[in-house]
Amino acid sequence: MDEFKLIDAIKQKTYRQPSLIKGVGDDAAVFRKINKDIVTAVDTFVENVHFTKQTLSFKQIGYRALAANISDLAAMGASPLFYLVSIVIPKGVSDQSLVEIFTGMKELAMQYNMDLIGGDTVSGQQLVLSVTVIGEVAKNKARYRSDAKNNDVVFVTGTLGDARAGLEILLGRANVERQKRLIQKHQMPTPRVTFVQTLEKLRRLALNDISDGVANELHEIAASSGVTIEIDAMKIPISDELKQFSQKEQTEWKLFGGEDFELVGTVAKTDFSFVENVGKKLGVKVTEIGNVSYNRQRQGEVFIYQNGKWEKLKKHGYIHRN
Ligand code: ADP
Ligand code: MG
Repeated sequence: MDEFKLIDAIKQKTYRQPSLIKGVGDDAAVFRKINKDIVTAVDTFVENVHFTKQTLSFKQIGYRALAANISDLAAMGASPLFYLVSIVIPKGVSDQSLVEIFTGMKELAMQYNMDLIGGDTVSGQQLVLSVTVIGEVAKNKARYRSDAKNNDVVFVTGTLGDARAGLEILLGRANVERQKRLIQKHQMPTPRVTFVQTLEKLRRLALNDISDGVANELHEIAASSGVTIEIDAMKIPISDELKQFSQKEQTEWKLFGGEDFELVGTVAKTDFSFVENVGKKLGVKVTEIGNVSYNRQRQGEVFIYQNGKWEKLKKHGYIHRN
């Protein structure tokens, strides 16, 4: 299929966002928004670097690429509006496969009334998918990782480590009886959009999405907020399915396993019950895992209590403190 046929095949017949003035078909897209802060992000996925066909169908490749981007919007407290897709197509990828990639994205986009408003289509050596998302948030309500404060509660949504377990199963490196939910979490993760939207009235909330493992994301919050974070390993929520794995794998994956696309955040103690109630109302599991403290000498550091002692948590491992 040539570029024009592909664009024609993926082009939306109608658009859902009322703010859209010009979608696919001109040199660029146009939309108009009044009184909102606009939030935008881009992520690029290279075959055999960021994903493989061994674990994802073409539809899932599309779905997951868009989900990862929507998760970034959610981590900013923003609601999704539009997406643009730049794709590098190698020889040997069928027309049908290309259409499936876009169908996977559309499936997720529909859930949020997102419109595909542009992109770029080129040929190259490797399958590369670069997705740009545009979202909106009420003025001055974007959620920054730099907003954590002394005495905040640290919480996470959902359970952690499942996507990594699903990946291991699909790669044939692990085998357990109950695997469906784990595989699903790897192939079709759900970004926490409604959850953050419902938290909009909170004055202050520091947020990060869990794409590289909670240990890494906690460091990002601690560093950009200039605070220290202390968590309890036993409080990190894991699924019953994850409990089928060895203790070592459970610990490793809940802390360092990426791509769960859950959220980790911090809020004032007095606001935490509101966060818990929103979770209850929406059926999103919310778990307190620790707290924020301030120590001038320990800014940006993260500590974990496990096996009866405190250890310094690193982005991808620990240092045992003696
Ligand atoms: P130009 O040469 O002006 O960049 P293109 O021929 O690249 O235009 O694209 C024509 C139209 O199709 C533009 O509106 C562009 O945004 C859209 N488009 C191209 N590739 C994609 C894609 N992969 N996904 C969505 N829209 C695309
Ligand atoms: Mg172009």
